[in-house]
Amino acid sequence: MSEDSSEQAKKQRRKELLEPTGIKELFKEGSIRVNEHTCEGVQCKFCIKACPTNALYWSNGKINVIEDLCVYCGACVLNCMVDDCIKVERKREDGSVERFSKPKDVVRLSEKINAKKRSGRVQAIFPTIERYCQRAEGDSEAGWRTK
Ligand code: SF4
Ligand code: SF4
Repeated sequence: MSEDSSEQAKKQRRKELLEPTGIKELFKEGSIRVNEHTCEGVQCKFCIKACPTNALYWSNGKINVIEDLCVYCGACVLNCMVDDCIKVERKREDGSVERFSKPKDVVRLSEKINAKKRSGRVQAIFPTIERYCQRAEGDSEAGWRTK
């Protein structure tokens, strides 16, 4: 099987597995690693409970990952009690790469993404400061004329 067709087959397999979960894939590609030496698995397993796609399971005394089910959302990292135990790397459609392995990394990253979205929404209304000023000037002139 060529590299292209095996990639296609992987994509199709992921699509079929993820469809029933209703979770959308937001990232082009990614990877996840769990360090079995630092994991507190027996007392913890928070990551398993947090995973929205059931990509994690406990077997043979360790956390295992079904890579085809992982959408690299970071919920497991956010809920892990051990820093750097789970490492996630993901690539966006625009080619940018995000890596995180601590809850605070995930929080920081989502704050950054939310700030970017907020700024995008503001820019959609007032694309530039000049346009904002023009609009404000127009409004005040209109108000002046009605008096
Ligand atoms: S990154 Fe998200 S989908 Fe992947 S194992 Fe962790 S919680 Fe599950
Ligand atoms: S949340 Fe972290 S420490 Fe707990 S079982 Fe999962 S990987 Fe191990």
